[in-house]
Amino acid sequence: QSQELSQVQIDYHAALQTLLEDGTRMVCTGRMHTDRICRFESLCYSTEAEEFIYFHSNSSVMLPNLGSRRFQPALLDLSSVEDHNTQYFNFVELPAAALKFMPKPVFVPDVALIANRFNPDNLMHVFHDDLLPIYYTMQQFTDLDPEARLFFMEGWSEGVHFDLYKLLSNKQPLLREQLKTLGRLLCFTKSYVGLSKITTWYQYGFVQPQGPKANILVSGNEIRQFTKFMMQKLNVSLEESSSEEYIVVFSRTINRLILNEAELILALAQEFQMKTITVSLEEHSFSDIVRLISNASMLVSMHGAQLVMSLFLPRGATVVELFPYAINPEHYTPYKTLATLPGMDLQYIAWQNTAREDTVTYPDRPWDQGGIAHLDKAEQERIIKSTEVPRHLCCRNPEWLFRAYQDTKVDIPSLIHVIRQTVKSKPGPKKQKWSGSLYPGKVRDAKCQASVQGTSEAKLSVSWQIPWNLKYLKVREVKYEVWIQEQGENTYMPYILSHQNHTFSENIKPFTIYLVWIRCIFNKNLLGPFADVLLCST
Ligand code: UDP
Repeated sequence: QSQELSQVQIDYHAALQTLLEDGTRMVCTGRMHTDRICRFESLCYSTEAEEFIYFHSNSSVMLPNLGSRRFQPALLDLSSVEDHNTQYFNFVELPAAALKFMPKPVFVPDVALIANRFNPDNLMHVFHDDLLPIYYTMQQFTDLDPEARLFFMEGWSEGVHFDLYKLLSNKQPLLREQLKTLGRLLCFTKSYVGLSKITTWYQYGFVQPQGPKANILVSGNEIRQFTKFMMQKLNVSLEESSSEEYIVVFSRTINRLILNEAELILALAQEFQMKTITVSLEEHSFSDIVRLISNASMLVSMHGAQLVMSLFLPRGATVVELFPYAINPEHYTPYKTLATLPGMDLQYIAWQNTAREDTVTYPDRPWDQGGIAHLDKAEQERIIKSTEVPRHLCCRNPEWLFRAYQDTKVDIPSLIHVIRQTVKSKPGPKKQKWSGSLYPGKVRDAKCQASVQGTSEAKLSVSWQIPWNLKYLKVREVKYEVWIQEQGENTYMPYILSHQNHTFSENIKPFTIYLVWIRCIFNKNLLGPFADVLLCST
């Protein structure tokens, strides 16, 4: 059964003795609560107090030892969402001697990854906040192997996508509620607490309007390593030479509907001369959706969490995101950001309904489905008249919800027109060309030689060797960038050169010291590092 811990036998008496003598040991990575992940030995949890416990003894370790800064605001973020005040982790401290007066501890023998899921009912959140971060946190720490066990502490029940979480490890993940059935005091023999944020690309607008993260650190390569893993676990094989090309329309069936879906499907099929199929989360199994999307040429869908499935599209495919009336596509870009990550190699197209007569609103629904009947009359009037939702913070802006939950009759000619601006011939997976981009190393053995002509003219001859890695690479175009800076000046003269030496005579003065900076550039935009600066005296 799910609540059973491991078959691994542990010597209970020895484990208790170790806890009493050694207490809790914690060593963390990260400088701030927002980038911290901690490794613990003997971290305990009281299922009655619903608090983690750190036991002090002569051998306990707490790094970082923050004192009361541990509460300002917390030791770390338990979910991958940055600095969210409902997702903080901390523990209470006790002397190990207090164990004598506490319930008998139950030891958790599995290596544990302890974290919060952020919103397990929403597929975008499931992938972006939980599955990818958990997968790459497990890649970061080798003892988080497939036998590790996930502990979800956010307090939600399994949720509709729990099967996806189960794919990440061979052990059943445990939820906070289930811990109660294990005992009153649990002690995790070895655990990691917190999630890596390195793969997340979007911020949901808690402190500033939503948008791409400021410093995105993930590329299509890592996304695709993850989807490959998921597809193996789901038993979906990548069909390399699938014969037929097709378009997938991912439809929503409950709200934010496409009202003329049948017409849309016919039009797409006719325009691109391709079979066009519909899928929905309600009518298809997850593996079937993944199987269909992973071979599709184009994915067309209303804005919404189901579009995170573009994760599974093959390179070269096209994502078409449809936005209801008054919703500016530039203000809601989780799926655009995903599709345009470097190396995702997807084409992204947004279409917006700009015709008021093609939208169907639901002012009388409950507020969380976009209803506005609870607002005062003037505010209702203003919202209904407005032609664009102004930028706003997450998550309960009634004008946003009102517009987000409209149904749309898609204007087919205008949609085909915007798709055709990007997709000229047939859409679809290009030849799997390897688009990995490798950067040049430093240029080597840079030298300079000066010659002075009279009192006002001088020349500077600079030469260097190719970067060491170039001889192992096939590079379409190799160029060099040289900056010449007079010592003490803030400005420099930049040059782009094709050869490994050059004589500079423009603006070169005699009896002057120049700093020469040289770097290699592959294929126009792959800029290498500058070599150590070269000092040249004329
Ligand atoms: N959902 C769905 N069909 C629908 C409406 C919603 O499958 O008709 C799914 C949606 O993909 C998401 C979850 O239900 O995983 C919550 O949807 P919601 O509209 O709240 O969020 P959004 O899609 O706007 O992120």
